[in-house]
Amino acid sequence: MSSDTMTQYSIEELKCPKCGHAHHLKKYSVINVTEKPAMKEDILKNRIFNFDCENCDLVAPLTYESMYLDSKKKLAICLSTEETDMEQLEKWKSRKGMTLRVVDNINDLKEKIMIAENLLDDRVVELVKIAYLRRLEKEMKEDTLMNILFDYNGNQMYFLVFFEKKGIGRMPFDLELYRSTASRYERQIKAHSTDDFMKVDMKWAGDIFFMRS
Ligand SMILES: [Zn+2]
Repeated sequence: MSSDTMTQYSIEELKCPKCGHAHHLKKYSVINVTEKPAMKEDILKNRIFNFDCENCDLVAPLTYESMYLDSKKKLAICLSTEETDMEQLEKWKSRKGMTLRVVDNINDLKEKIMIAENLLDDRVVELVKIAYLRRLEKEMKEDTLMNILFDYNGNQMYFLVFFEKKGIGRMPFDLELYRSTASRYERQIKAHSTDDFMKVDMKWAGDIFFMRS
């Protein structure tokens, strides 16, 4: 493992935005979960990328630029912010056979990790989400769909659907639909993939899905 792929952090002082209490936080520029497997769970359980004030109980997401690496799964996910300079990420592209992704929020990072944990292809998962919109048509007439996120518990996989008024619902993940989608869109998925850090979301999938039909 070369030094730039190893877990790195700096300690920074941060004042609580609510009460001003001073904190010393570990800010990770690189998180390699092959080297430090427990950190995967730390991200999923909001122990990293989360600000938790012991003085006033403020809890808030803490987003900063970071590189999530899973050398074993050959996956690199850049958590980007508005300041992220994509040119600076060039050095990661030379790593052959790596899957490169970029996300701009913690929930999307967690989702990508969970999809990889279940050995699924996030590009197919995003296409399946679009197919699920049809199943949500009735609800979408009465309410606003805010987000759909992949999640799982043990061997049960599902989508969490977030509605503005009704709140969070859960729909079982249809593995058959996943498999048929993967083979049906195989060619288009390849044509829309690059070796660069790809933002794979519902917008990316929508471009493929609606072009075909
Ligand atoms: Zn505080």
